Amino acid sequence: MNTKYIFVTGGVTSSLGKGIIASSIGKLLQSRGYRVTIQKFDPYINIDSGTLNPYEHGECYVTVDGHETDLDLGHYERFLSIETHKPNCVTTGRIYQSVIDKERRGDYLGKTVQIIPHITDEIKRRMLFLGESGEYDFVITEIGGVAGDIESLPFLESVRQLKWELGADCINVHLTYVPYLAAAGELKTKPTQHSVKKLQELGIQPDVLILRTEHDIPDDVRAKVSLFCNVKREAVIQSRDVPSIYMVPVRMHAQGLDTVILRKLGIDPEQTSCNLTIWNRFLNMMQSTVQEVHIGIVGKYVELQDAYKSISEALLHASVYNGRKLKLHYIHSGSIDSENVESKLCGLNGVVVAPGFGQRATEGKFAALKYTREHNIPTFGICLGMQCMVIEFARNVLGYTDANSTELDEHTLHNVIDIMESQKSVTTKGGTMRLGAYRCSLVQGSLAASAYGKVEVCERHRHRYEFNNDYRENFEKNGMVVTGLNPELGLVEIVELPLHKWYLGTQFHPEYSSTVENPHPLFKSFIAAAMKK
Ligand code: GLN
Repeated sequence: MNTKYIFVTGGVTSSLGKGIIASSIGKLLQSRGYRVTIQKFDPYINIDSGTLNPYEHGECYVTVDGHETDLDLGHYERFLSIETHKPNCVTTGRIYQSVIDKERRGDYLGKTVQIIPHITDEIKRRMLFLGESGEYDFVITEIGGVAGDIESLPFLESVRQLKWELGADCINVHLTYVPYLAAAGELKTKPTQHSVKKLQELGIQPDVLILRTEHDIPDDVRAKVSLFCNVKREAVIQSRDVPSIYMVPVRMHAQGLDTVILRKLGIDPEQTSCNLTIWNRFLNMMQSTVQEVHIGIVGKYVELQDAYKSISEALLHASVYNGRKLKLHYIHSGSIDSENVESKLCGLNGVVVAPGFGQRATEGKFAALKYTREHNIPTFGICLGMQCMVIEFARNVLGYTDANSTELDEHTLHNVIDIMESQKSVTTKGGTMRLGAYRCSLVQGSLAASAYGKVEVCERHRHRYEFNNDYRENFEKNGMVVTGLNPELGLVEIVELPLHKWYLGTQFHPEYSSTVENPHPLFKSFIAAAMKK
């Protein structure tokens, strides 16, 4: 079978959940035994997501090969339990950078370099790249932005050309919005019609329409959309709001989205059947949980919950597998001080101290950690959160009252967290942190080793600073022990307080590798401890 290409575009407005729809299509095809990958093409000029503000864009997701990407890649991995890599995330910036590099090298000597064909050829090359490896039956490509945006025009032009060139091996699934006007008591299809017209003007006829809606779309409304948009009635699918994103694949399957897609691509859907056993088991567990577990996330980006997407999803996976309903409490670290910390944290079963950058709002993290350490509340520090655990311990147990990270106070006399040797010569910001998966050896008998059930693991990183090994002996003598080390470089990866119920910090980001079908062992162990409080 030729590799098939599915392009997912969006219309009317952003934030309709294209990433969830792309992931759901991927899940359904995967559950029929096909090999699937998903990639995202984003229309901004940044080379990658590493330099974007989490308040605007949500979290930066990191792939095993150390690429800083859009958070949608997190959904792809969590839904499909696949690994994505650098080629799965492409931005306008990356496209232009390679075209301009080629121009300077002389690859186009004598030619005027233009958006069409040079930029679009580069886009098409990358859209086909993963498919050409022979490793996939389906390559799903999510196009960021909304049809009609100036920025996404070269991407949509490339989709048009590929639809023409690939013929029956390529389809477009277009996601739009059908608003409900309460005053008129009506669902309105006009925005969808306009959005499809926009695509048609660009030369793309959608093959499948997915209508995002808050109300059920009656048959006559679907028939109208079908007629006005040249899309067959059975290929007009509704995506009504559901309590959990993980219900979307099942809802899509119930309306035959996978069969419609297979038929459009010339594949007989009767040849395979959808096996969602593990997925449905997860959904059943999730829906039958009654007892709650209350977890606080202490961080400075709490205004936009997408800033901690992978952490909140990992906590959800772990709670479901522990038979608990997750109740998350986002607590701004800037609002915590030693006076109010009790009232902010006392009802919680466990506390996560979040990753982050820069000095602002870190003192609240220290206040939170002092409280959870002294009150034996299960606590999980991730990256900056782990570094804060180390600093708080140095200040309040080792007695180094000015202890700090040189990221937060350059002049501290007790630099218990310090810039990594390899980072000292780094002068540019983009893509220069310690990124991606590195090995970590665990100490036998530690909390970490018992959670993982093994002593060699590999986890993803995104940081410049590290535990200062000069202080290690002093920490260990006083009760904070190192239980995970990078075997090649001796960098500290995990610290624990063995006398505490569950107090563990990781320099790496375990949240990136938790999936619906493989919840992360550290999160599972953390929630299990939180349940006992
Ligand atoms: N700012 C810290 C560092 O660079 C922690 C980074 C993080 O939390 N991802 O080391």
